[in-house]
Amino acid sequence: YNVPDAFNEPVLSYAPGTKEREQVLATFKEMYATTVDVPMYIGSEEVRTGKTQTMNPPFDHKKVVGTYHEAEKKHVEQAIDAALEARKKWASMAWEQRAAIFLKAADLLAGPYRAKINASTMIAQAKTVHQAEIDAACEFIDFLRFNVEFMTQIYAEQPISSEGIWNRLEHRPLEGFIYAITPFNFTAIAGNLPAAPALMGNVVVWKPSAAQVYSANIIMEVFKLAGVPDGVINMVHGDPVMITDTLMASPDFAGVHYTGSTTVFNGIWAKIGANMGKGIYKTYPKIVGETGGKDFIIAHPSSIPAQVATGLSRGAFEFQGQKCSAASRAYIPQSIWGAVKEHLVNDVKSMKMGSPEDPSNFITSVIHEASFDKLAKYIDAAKAANDAEIIVGGTYDKSEGYFIAPTVIVTTNPQYETMYTELFGPVLTIYVYEDAKWEETLKLVDETSPYALTGAVFSQDRYAIEQATKALENCAGNFYINDKPTGAVVGQQPFGGARASGTNDKAGSILNLLRWVSPRTIKETL
Ligand code: GLU
Repeated sequence: YNVPDAFNEPVLSYAPGTKEREQVLATFKEMYATTVDVPMYIGSEEVRTGKTQTMNPPFDHKKVVGTYHEAEKKHVEQAIDAALEARKKWASMAWEQRAAIFLKAADLLAGPYRAKINASTMIAQAKTVHQAEIDAACEFIDFLRFNVEFMTQIYAEQPISSEGIWNRLEHRPLEGFIYAITPFNFTAIAGNLPAAPALMGNVVVWKPSAAQVYSANIIMEVFKLAGVPDGVINMVHGDPVMITDTLMASPDFAGVHYTGSTTVFNGIWAKIGANMGKGIYKTYPKIVGETGGKDFIIAHPSSIPAQVATGLSRGAFEFQGQKCSAASRAYIPQSIWGAVKEHLVNDVKSMKMGSPEDPSNFITSVIHEASFDKLAKYIDAAKAANDAEIIVGGTYDKSEGYFIAPTVIVTTNPQYETMYTELFGPVLTIYVYEDAKWEETLKLVDETSPYALTGAVFSQDRYAIEQATKALENCAGNFYINDKPTGAVVGQQPFGGARASGTNDKAGSILNLLRWVSPRTIKETL
């Protein structure tokens, strides 16, 4: 099929003196000086219920940047009706029209909307401009462009025919609507979760994370400007339990596209199962979810200490550690620990922390008070523990924003709580193992991995790399050799994991889009 070749959007530098830096900082200032009133988008309507919540930037939580309106049950039901109404035309629209809309959205984000989507992500999710650029601009654009290419690969896959018989496959959208539930930590994921099913001809009701509504609203603006018809993607806010229960009680609920916590995903799965038991659905809903992680780095004695240290500090602390993929536990051999520790502590001490408005900051605040309190609690516990020690960081302050200093805990207990509990913040726990226990440690990593999202091995020894690759085959859907376990790029490292990390349908790949089609096989006797 003739579609524009997908390519990864180049990451802009935002170096001092560049036009893009000037532009994004001016946009940030402008947005910060005004407030917005974010509606829900239901069909052609902007719905304001008057039941509002304020939006406060996590790095400056007394500041109000706007309000958003919350749904009552009837609004969620209206969103279902609007989606099903839109489906009548959208589901049978030629794929080229759908592709053109999302390619246009990509171009809007790459050009006129780049500063706005980045600034809104800086404000809502406390990302530095460098973090926002990688996420809200480049990764989002990549999802949109690559999905179009993946879509044509799906359509191209056809059965063979024979004399007198013409077989064909029609990759139709699902019968019903899709529910997209999106997280705060990636604007790209927030955009992709409704966009991917919609590209395949589905209609969507989207509930962004309460902490991301501010930038989600810009995503809706881009979708609308690109030509997504009314009702194809509806956006609702409010009580997640009520919204989920209402949407999933509909006979037309055809699937969920989810990224968020494992606990919530388990609840969703159970609800769908219970409803299925009552026989309410027309079709088996597709369940696609990416959930938590407790991602590891294991270094072999042959690894290069400086390389390991960089992997640790970047893997653990970039994006404030608020990635499902963040390196949050590590296993380092005794023989190189002294050298690794020196590099790591120096690296972490050099990380400037502060407002996302200053591009020289490496790390900003975590997302909200609940997250801050949880992290502070684990830091305090490590200070008090006999089997753990904080070697760098360990301070926190929520007087203005939810700031947690990048913190490294070293434990003598491989079963220490933060070696297996996901914290979702800038806290890394390290266990130092005896060199002779390399194989035992591989086994230990596997046995203490309830999650299986990402992981990394560092080694200069090919046998050790092979051993680790095999021994850890079930503990990471994305496995990295001599690199940090984060930063998957669309089209290059399809992303997702199994075990408690999700259904492993690989965001940014053909596998994900395949979940949003219900193929029909047609055999025609000629
Ligand atoms: N895809 C991102 C990465 O590879 C992580 C996404 C997430 O945190 O959900 O780092």
